[in-house]
Amino acid sequence: MRLVDRPWTAHQVRLTRLARPFMVAAVAIAAGLGLSAALPGYYVYLAISVIVAAVALLGLGIVSGSAGMIALCQLTFAAVGAWVVTGLNVAGAPGGFVLWLAAGGLVAGVVGLLVGLPALRLRGVNLAVVTLGLAAAVDVALVQVQFPGTTEGRFVDRPGPFGDDRSYFILCVLVLAACCLAVHFVQQGRWGSGWKSVAFSERGTAAAGGSVSSSKLTAFATSATLGGISGGLVVGQVGLALPASFTPIQSLALYVLAIMAGAYLIDMAIFGAVLWVAVPELLKRWGVPQDWGFVVFGVLGVQALTSGTNLGMIIRTALWRRSASKPVAPTVSDAAPSVSDAAPSVSDAAPTSDPAPHPSPAPARGSMVLEVDDLSMSFGHVQALRGVQLAVPEGAVVGLIGPNGAGKSTLVDVISGFLPRATGTVRLDGVSMAGRSPTRRARLGLRRTFQQDRVPPGLTVGAYVRYVARRRLAAEDIAEVLDFFGCPPERTRLADVDAGRRRLVEVAGHVLAQPRILLLDEPAAGLSHDEHLALAQRLRQAPARFGLSMLLIEHDLDLVRSVCDTITVLDFGEVLASGPQADVLADPAVLKAYMGETEML
Ligand code: ADP
Ligand code: MG
Repeated sequence: MRLVDRPWTAHQVRLTRLARPFMVAAVAIAAGLGLSAALPGYYVYLAISVIVAAVALLGLGIVSGSAGMIALCQLTFAAVGAWVVTGLNVAGAPGGFVLWLAAGGLVAGVVGLLVGLPALRLRGVNLAVVTLGLAAAVDVALVQVQFPGTTEGRFVDRPGPFGDDRSYFILCVLVLAACCLAVHFVQQGRWGSGWKSVAFSERGTAAAGGSVSSSKLTAFATSATLGGISGGLVVGQVGLALPASFTPIQSLALYVLAIMAGAYLIDMAIFGAVLWVAVPELLKRWGVPQDWGFVVFGVLGVQALTSGTNLGMIIRTALWRRSASKPVAPTVSDAAPSVSDAAPSVSDAAPTSDPAPHPSPAPARGSMVLEVDDLSMSFGHVQALRGVQLAVPEGAVVGLIGPNGAGKSTLVDVISGFLPRATGTVRLDGVSMAGRSPTRRARLGLRRTFQQDRVPPGLTVGAYVRYVARRRLAAEDIAEVLDFFGCPPERTRLADVDAGRRRLVEVAGHVLAQPRILLLDEPAAGLSHDEHLALAQRLRQAPARFGLSMLLIEHDLDLVRSVCDTITVLDFGEVLASGPQADVLADPAVLKAYMGETEML
């Protein structure tokens, strides 16, 4: 579908995507300059506080909003930043305030990395307790020890041109703009996709070859770096660092505010910061003690958590609805030629003449890509798999069928490394996968999709398939594969895609990864009958077109019949039959196992 006569090239779209954030930042800086001149003195001071809070909230948005972890020590990281700035000031270190600020951010980032280590094992409430405990411990220590230079009254000088409040506010605006740009681009990149993927499903992340540990640690480190910068800015604002600015209760309230505002969205982090400063200020004017501000944040936070939404989502949804009625900008995928019609059939398709991504050359063995020997797995008393034998030849699509509970998904879990307790051997291109993690196996070209939805709704289709593919891809190649599998265009948000189609996006992403073998666990679930037929046709073409081999688990026998020449049947965890389609489906034992399974008859 072409919306305009001259479609945008991929290059133009990329340039626009790169340029727009800088334009927004330039406008924001200009607005900051205007505010610094127009605001009365006291409000300038408050505006500095807003920026300090905004930088801290940006960080919280990453760790809590994007990566889905509970971290209740953001102001402890700010204290680390403040400590570094005051310490360097007392030591008379060269470089001056701006360099010390950056150093504070870096040191806080390293501390964040260390604090993130427990997050690799802890989740939810346990992680909350650990981080809040750390915040409390540091608070007690700070009151005892005090920041460097506090007792002697060694004030930190602001850098030359930013000496008074008005000009220091401009410096803060510049720092905030730089932080926002950095967060924007990191969120759009691999790290950002990894955070959102881990927040939704750690198994899905590992299956895409992503490292769950790295994603969690980078989220903590980036968040802490921003916390550290925020703490350094406070020192520049006040001249000294005081423990009262970094208490655990404030960290807790800031976390609640981040959840409530949806601080993973940059504009909402800034909006949250305005609330952070404005609510206590208003209470003060109305003669109410400022600490009641925490109660207000607490109530709003409970509301946000119980309703499952946040201010950011509400405002964004309202804006999207309004803009949905306006004409849409052309996208690369709109402009890409449709390939599904022109797709070659299996018989006449030669992978080398195909414009689709080219697979790496297969090893010369040309025999079995995947070999599974004597696999057994039990869950307590349930023997889910017993001595399973299976092989997938190069370029083949082998079907795996069996009644519900036969052990099909368990087999995929074992092959892809999610059940290391299983016994038996799994070989990819003749190499044993023993002792290798799911992430490692995925990176070696052993990919799988899930029966349950593991596609993170927080990403766009394009960001997701790029993350899953783990390699540089031209927009045209992505558009082509998405189109081939009947997926929505790159820029569609996955939250707006129905479950059946999300599964197709998952398949497309893994195909773009050019794996040696792809295990598909009921990929047609959630699709209509016509879509089933279309998927069958695409899967038939996939090995020749993309140079991969597949193991197709499917409940719909029509689909298996039309795609797979070879079929293996599992029943009660054992291989009941295996071989050419016609023989297996005529086997009386198979017919008996399927009695009552309507698809068969
Ligand atoms: P299928 O995919 O063929 O429908 P599964 O592999 O999901 O079957 O399940 C095989 C058997 O293993 C079933 O009896 C199921 O209840 C059991 N099972 C699967 N996963 C678990 C688990 N995590 N804990 C306990 N039992 C499980
Ligand atoms: Mg299953």
